[in-house]
Amino acid sequence: MPKTSRAAVIPEPNAPVEIREFEIPELKPGAALLKVANAGVCGTDVHLWHGKLAGVPYPLIPGHEMVGTVEAIGPKKIRNVDGHEIKVGDRVTIHDVTKTCYSCWFCLIAKAPTKCPNREVYGITMDSTKWPHLIGAYSEYVYVTPGTHVIQIPDHVSFDGAGAVGCAMPTAVHTVIRSPLKWGSNVAIQGAGPVGLMLLALAKINGASTITSIDMESHRLKLAEKFGATHTLNIRETSLKERHDFLREITNGHGPDIVYEATGNALAVPEGVELVREGGTYTICGQYTDSGTVEMNPHLMNRKHLDIRTVWGSETTHVYQAVRTIADNYDEFPFEDVVTHKFLLDQTQEALETQERHESVKAVISPND
Ligand SMILES: [Zn+2]
Ligand SMILES: [Zn+2]
Repeated sequence: MPKTSRAAVIPEPNAPVEIREFEIPELKPGAALLKVANAGVCGTDVHLWHGKLAGVPYPLIPGHEMVGTVEAIGPKKIRNVDGHEIKVGDRVTIHDVTKTCYSCWFCLIAKAPTKCPNREVYGITMDSTKWPHLIGAYSEYVYVTPGTHVIQIPDHVSFDGAGAVGCAMPTAVHTVIRSPLKWGSNVAIQGAGPVGLMLLALAKINGASTITSIDMESHRLKLAEKFGATHTLNIRETSLKERHDFLREITNGHGPDIVYEATGNALAVPEGVELVREGGTYTICGQYTDSGTVEMNPHLMNRKHLDIRTVWGSETTHVYQAVRTIADNYDEFPFEDVVTHKFLLDQTQEALETQERHESVKAVISPND
């Protein structure tokens, strides 16, 4: 077993990222050590760098999206969520949320376990100053704590191809479960980042009639076409009225049945309410961190008789379904193309900046390259 691990640390909000060395802790019964192949650079990580989420302990080792190989296992057998024993060398991902208690009011009565107050998230809420320290994915090794849900990655799915299993596809799966697509629906998706692209794939798999991808970056919209977008709209090149009218033109005058928001930009929300058809559904999943306040007209929502839904976090089942969906449709969609930028651990700062400038679709850090 290696003795130490280098990890990227955000000392405090907006401070430059530092690379620090940590001792690899002794593995307790039920724990494992993951050698990180790819750590996904999530939009959320950029927001964490800027201190935009409450309850995050700094200094922080960021990174909640990870795929890699099992390097070592503690003094007790552990099993993946399929119930099979995990072996050294297995290619896996984990559900980044641990300690959902399944015994609090939210878990038991409200049946909303993603609101469980006892949850902890790798790279977001776990304190790197406390033992076992290595609990963020921007690190050569991650200490997989006892009870963490581990999911096998099928051999035919490359680590890059699994770039969306950490966060984007589980979010998309959860979103579509919250707002189901009907066969033949007209769908519009705001945002062609990883979550938007995975929503596209799910819309395609679910028999959508038209799928319009809306974004401000033409390179993202090109990728959206490869993921099944029948139409694309660049918000830098069109006005809101033009987008509204175009969506009616391609849907016999009605407008999209469902609009999914996956942008991380608060301004998308009033626009989405405008774009969706009368009696349609508007579902927000891209506002995980606080991107500010916008002006809304509640009368418009009421008058349009809308279903408005939001989605918070993911359960292990969504991560599991995400891996399955990617594995089962691996030849249908260019999942590997989602990873557009790869960085070494020493380039973490650059990785966050690249993600912030929207140059990448999905950037990953490969700490062991
Ligand atoms: Zn994420
Ligand atoms: Zn709970």
